[in-house]
Amino acid sequence: MAYKQNNRVAKQKKRAAIRRTKEQHSGTIAGRYYLTISKRQSHCVMCDCQIQKGGESVYRHEPQSVLCVPCAQSSKVDWRVSTRWEAARVRKLTPANT
Ligand SMILES: [Zn+2]
Repeated sequence: MAYKQNNRVAKQKKRAAIRRTKEQHSGTIAGRYYLTISKRQSHCVMCDCQIQKGGESVYRHEPQSVLCVPCAQSSKVDWRVSTRWEAARVRKLTPANT
């Protein structure tokens, strides 16, 4: 059966394409705000509230900035959902043992 091998090659191609796209747009991605899951405890740069590890935050890589969700919404920052946040949401919606 060639199916498994073809599937593997297709996945490799897909990963390579994602990597290429990320490299092409790395500057744009770094300068954007993304809703993400905080990897560590941090503080919002606007209201100085605490953002817990594992909590939602709006993050910009360059220049570095972390906002809590209410501040991001009230300051009309143009943020989008990150792949990390999407993955976390999928995990939350899908029961672990199905
Ligand atoms: Zn805030």
